[in-house]
Amino acid sequence: MQRFRKFKNYFIHKYKNQYLRAKPFYMSQPDIPQLNKLATQIRRDIVRMVHACQSGHPGGSLGCTDFFVALYFHHLQHNPKFNMDAKGEDLFFLSNGHISPVWYATLARAGYFEVNELATFRFLNTRLQGHPATHEHLPGVRVASGSLGQGLSVAIGAAQVKKLNQDNHLVYVLMGDGEQQEGQIWEAAMYAAHNKVDNLIATIDYNGQQIDGPVEKIVSLQNLKAKWESFGWTVLEFNGNAMDEVINGISLAKSLAHKGKPVLNLMKTEMGFGVDYMMGSHKWHGVAPNDEELAKALAQLPETVGDY
Ligand SMILES: [Mg+2]
Repeated sequence: MQRFRKFKNYFIHKYKNQYLRAKPFYMSQPDIPQLNKLATQIRRDIVRMVHACQSGHPGGSLGCTDFFVALYFHHLQHNPKFNMDAKGEDLFFLSNGHISPVWYATLARAGYFEVNELATFRFLNTRLQGHPATHEHLPGVRVASGSLGQGLSVAIGAAQVKKLNQDNHLVYVLMGDGEQQEGQIWEAAMYAAHNKVDNLIATIDYNGQQIDGPVEKIVSLQNLKAKWESFGWTVLEFNGNAMDEVINGISLAKSLAHKGKPVLNLMKTEMGFGVDYMMGSHKWHGVAPNDEELAKALAQLPETVGDY
């Protein structure tokens, strides 16, 4: 009996930390009102962060907030006690790295680092660089991004590593729609379908805007759904600015994983969603609000879970 107890204690001691680290952090049942509250707070964080340093990209960040909340607080099986290898966890890569404010605010609210650190966004020597980088060792960031077109290739590589490791967890990547003009994306799309990288869920922030104007005017994407389908992907479409639709859209994408084809979500969003004067234009792609504009934005985004 004593020997058994000794063995039991040894077992608990040896595996306790491993168990704690491997425990996924996500809501098993979606609590839509709570998720919406988090999204409002994160939108508030975004405009405050960008205003404080008078630099950054609020438009795309606000448009993708519901996606980030649905992913990190419901779908993603992840661990805020961050480790770079992510064995036994899902992975997320942000290809359109300029929307770092929404990612940083989500990571902080999910427990990767202190929310107060959001106040350092884009300041000298911060870990919260304008575009995510690995040099500063910010928990949650596994690759530098912002040079558009590269994130899908990285995600495909990571998904193939998961397969080699016989790890059934999924790899997610978010791209912009303007980013679809990059040639590397289409090489990656062809490669992933050919190699049946079916543990990959890619999402396009389909807001119809890019830095210089409407995507349709800059370089038209024409029928994006037909293009991805013709490259051998399963393509889904959903509204990215309604929490229940984002939750359900990602659920459907997950149910189609491991079926021989990579999955692409065409997620319709509105740049600047949640702040009326930022919506419907590319103007707020990379412009910070002044004091008066900040006050107007915050009046539309009440504090819900607490400001940093
Ligand atoms: Mg766009």
